[in-house]
This record gives sequence, C-alpha cells and structure tokens, in this order.
Amino acid sequence: CGIIGYVGNREAAPILIDCLKKLEYRGYDSAGITILNGNIDTYKTVGKIRELEKILPEDLKGNIGIGHTRWATHGVPSTVNSHPHNSGDISIVHNGIIENYLAIKEKLQQEGYDFLSETDTEVIAHLLHSKLYGSVNNTEKTCDFFTALRSTLQEVEGSYAVTAVCSSEPDLMIAARKDSPLIIGIGDGEYYAASDVTAFLNHTKDVVFVDDLDLVTIRPEGVEFFDIDGNVLEKEKTTIEWDI
Ligand code: GLU
Repeated sequence: CGIIGYVGNREAAPILIDCLKKLEYRGYDSAGITILNGNIDTYKTVGKIRELEKILPEDLKGNIGIGHTRWATHGVPSTVNSHPHNSGDISIVHNGIIENYLAIKEKLQQEGYDFLSETDTEVIAHLLHSKLYGSVNNTEKTCDFFTALRSTLQEVEGSYAVTAVCSSEPDLMIAARKDSPLIIGIGDGEYYAASDVTAFLNHTKDVVFVDDLDLVTIRPEGVEFFDIDGNVLEKEKTTIEWDI
C-alpha cells in the first residue's frame, strides 16, 4: 500500500516511522522497516505504526532504510506476510501485484529457495538473490545489485513500486516502478523514495516523478535515473507548492 526509502546523514529509523505515519491515511494491516547498517536489520508487525515503533530497539542505527505499510492482496494480514521480505543479504518492500508469482515461486523452490510467506512479493526477494548470486547457497556475486534488480524486474509481470537494499552494497538503495506510483524527494544531503509525496513533504518539497519501468539508484552522494535496460536518463526536478 505505501512504500518509503531514506538515504542520508540522519538516523533512518525515526524518519521512516515519521514518513509511514504520513501514509497511514491510506489504510493498511501491517507495517515494517529494514535498516541497512552492515547487516539488514528488519522489524515488522501486524497493526499500527505505533506497534512497530514499540518493537524497534532504542539503539537502532543506520542512515539508509526502507519501510512499508501493507494492504494485503496475496496472503492474509500477518507478521510473516508483512514487508520487508528478505533473501540472504537483500531486503525489499513492494506495492502492487506480481501476476506471474506462482510460476516464479515454483521455479525458485526447485532451486532450493525457502519461502516464508504466502505473498506474491517474496518472489522478488528470492529472484533478486538468484540473479545476484547465481544460486541459493552461492556467496560470490555474479553481477552487481543494480544489474540483478533490472534483470528481476524484466522477469516479473504485473505492477510494482519497490525499494530495495543489499548489505553487501552498503551505500545504495534502489527504487523502481511499473504501474504503481513512485516519487523521489531531493533534500539537503538526503533523499527519499515514496509511493506518495505526502510521506516526505515535511522534509523536502523538491521532487522528481519517476516514470514507468525506470530505476533510481540512491546513494549518500547523489541520485541517478535509468531505464530498464540500464541507460542513464535525465530527469527534471520540480517543487511541490502545496503544504500538508
Ligand atoms: N501484493 C503485495 C502483498 O500482498 C503488496 C500489497 C501492497 O501493495 O500493500 O503483500
């Protein structure tokens, strides 16, 4: 239902929580975040954002993170079905519906991937892992995270807005969309990715609207836009004039 991502110089967890609260009006059944801090540190729960806040450790540190409010489409509302979904060192959140998830799930299960949830979303995490590492037990990368995500998104059918992180590429978050909204917020030394501009509007009003089938790499030093084939795109920044 709602996605968010943060890359910057402040602690990501309280910012993600603040942004998720701004998305509450859309309705949701569960919520979660992953903080990138050498590892992927994931917390998720059914219920309200304040329930999620309660399970976060006080010393949760890290300047990059992703978050989600879920409106279940595939799989009941439950903690295990809530996002983020992880595979190895990868963590992703997703809005939308992956229509060919059953076929991908069967293929990945035959390759040894264990599925924890009933969601369509979890196929993105494991497919991404299989593209990045070649197989479930391999620890040597066969390509970089960006290339693996491009290849994954070329294989899935349906709609998506995703934000994704991988702890072996600790300065990077990637966002992408198809038939589901995604907006990038450009702050002062920090960046946001969200399904709804209201998520981050009290942090920055400078935005870039992402087009269908585009990917965005977001690092502390800047943001770059690409098409699904990996070609660099030039995008216009606009300023949102209204207040929330
Ligand atoms: N289809 C996904 C799920 O059921 C995402 C739902 C959403 O957009 O919140 O988990």
